[in-house]
Amino acid sequence: MEKDGPEAEPPRQRNGFVGMLYGEFTDTLNDKVRYSVSLTESALTVQRISSSPGRTKVVLNLTDCVGCRAYRAADGADVGAYFTAYFYPFKRRWMSAGVARQRVEQCFRVALVQDALTNLREAERWARSIRDASVQQAPRKAGVTAWAVRRPCRVMILVNPHSGRGQALQLFTGHVQGMLSEAGVPYKLVITEHQNHARELVKKADLSQWDALVIMSGDGLLFEVINGLMERDDWQEAIQTPLGILPGGSGNALAASVHHYSQSPPAWNEELLLSCGFMLCKGLVGSLDLVSIHLASTQRLFSFLSLAWGFVADVDIESEKYRHVGAIRFLMGTLVRLATLRVYQGRLAYLPVKEKPNLPTTPQHPSLCSSLPCQLIPTSSPTQNSHHVCNKSNPKTISISSNNAVTTKRPDMPSGSRTREPPDSLLPGLDQPLPESWTVVKEEDFVLVLAIYQSHLAEDLWAVPGALADDGIIHLFYVTAGISRPALLRLFLAMEKGAHLACGCPHLVYEKVRALRLEPISREGVIAVDGETVEYGPVQAQIHPGLARLIHG
Ligand code: ADP
Ligand code: MG
Repeated sequence: MEKDGPEAEPPRQRNGFVGMLYGEFTDTLNDKVRYSVSLTESALTVQRISSSPGRTKVVLNLTDCVGCRAYRAADGADVGAYFTAYFYPFKRRWMSAGVARQRVEQCFRVALVQDALTNLREAERWARSIRDASVQQAPRKAGVTAWAVRRPCRVMILVNPHSGRGQALQLFTGHVQGMLSEAGVPYKLVITEHQNHARELVKKADLSQWDALVIMSGDGLLFEVINGLMERDDWQEAIQTPLGILPGGSGNALAASVHHYSQSPPAWNEELLLSCGFMLCKGLVGSLDLVSIHLASTQRLFSFLSLAWGFVADVDIESEKYRHVGAIRFLMGTLVRLATLRVYQGRLAYLPVKEKPNLPTTPQHPSLCSSLPCQLIPTSSPTQNSHHVCNKSNPKTISISSNNAVTTKRPDMPSGSRTREPPDSLLPGLDQPLPESWTVVKEEDFVLVLAIYQSHLAEDLWAVPGALADDGIIHLFYVTAGISRPALLRLFLAMEKGAHLACGCPHLVYEKVRALRLEPISREGVIAVDGETVEYGPVQAQIHPGLARLIHG
């Protein structure tokens, strides 16, 4: 019952939103239990009205609300109408420490008068106001460019039924489907039938039909979708389609990263899924960096997560056989690989984020650094933006001087390729010498090379503290040969808390780069892009800041 008592402020206009509603409604199961309900721009407050003192009051934050709907009673004789609001606030977990999003439903019966239609109109007014206020209260972080997915939006959800433990479809039905219907998000579910099905589908799809493409799988299915979009003639427009991720695989690195960017407490498994589903319902969109990757066959790929060689790539691919155990497959794979730890020979070079100072010229190197006179190691701490500086008193360091070759000289396009869009302006042909502004790593014996552009490498591997989806940086890690098995294991265990860089391991190097080139010398090995095996051989990559769009929190 709406009333104009002293506690009910009159409706007011603020930022286009009608500020406050007040009403008194009954419990859906018990007519004798009444609630006073008030809606402000930021919260729905529910207070039980009873004669006994100590009224219980519940304040529900609208940033946690995904939707609200109004409806008539199933019983046609009932003149009452109902509205139900759906919230997913952080609440203490039952069995373990910490908090996670949990579903809270608030349902009220509206019976102002004996006319069913009037009651329904009032319920609809409340439902609409709660929905509008919730959209305006979508969480926004300072300094983050965000768009909202158009409303009402149409979403295509692609599910890989074989991803993870083969339960992606059941996980979708059990945890996400209901939430999408509460949020009033219409969607079409597409179950992929084979590898590259999603890639072919988005390559040909009429994208004007879809406001977002969402993947319910591991990272591999999103890799397909991104490459399908980039293979289109209208790629420039196509890649602007907001992309969403729902973790259903065994490698859910992007989902873990997106959850992390939302500044939410850590979550795994179903809790991570619920968090990503919640972000999808809220529909906030930001930029996502992509990295273009050139392989020897002149094939070009687009990657959103990682380029790995050596230990990490081997674990990723070899642990496929343990996929039935879920995300823990990486830990099992790590332990198995540690037992057969190997050294991978190759040449690595990169273009640092920070331009190097102009120093006396060193000749341009023909093929990475094989002819360089002294060794290269970073002089700065691995956590800083660093580049290699020549230090005559320290024969271990050298600088390849910068003459701004990257900006003054337009490199050749990769040999054998036609001009491809978007152009990779930082990369010469894979068979061409590198510009002098690049840094060449002297070591040629590696345990791993990992270029990553999101915060997480897996649900429980926080590889890059401080990384953002659109920081425009390739975070390059490499571990040189000589590291002991326990030290390598320590690094991976520390990565769970993002503490590996603080381990002080002299074999671990971290650089922020815009482009890199890797030329394996070892005849056998695996190169993995976003967790998928690609052609083994020379490879180079460059960042394309903010090329795609991503639904985040
Ligand atoms: P996971 O994290 O469990 O590895 P992914 O999403 O990475 O899950 O998918 C694993 C692989 O399955 C990817 O290479 C993807 O392209 C492929 N794939 C996608 N749909 C299907 C399908 N219907 N049948 C078989 N493989 C598929
Ligand atoms: Mg995968």
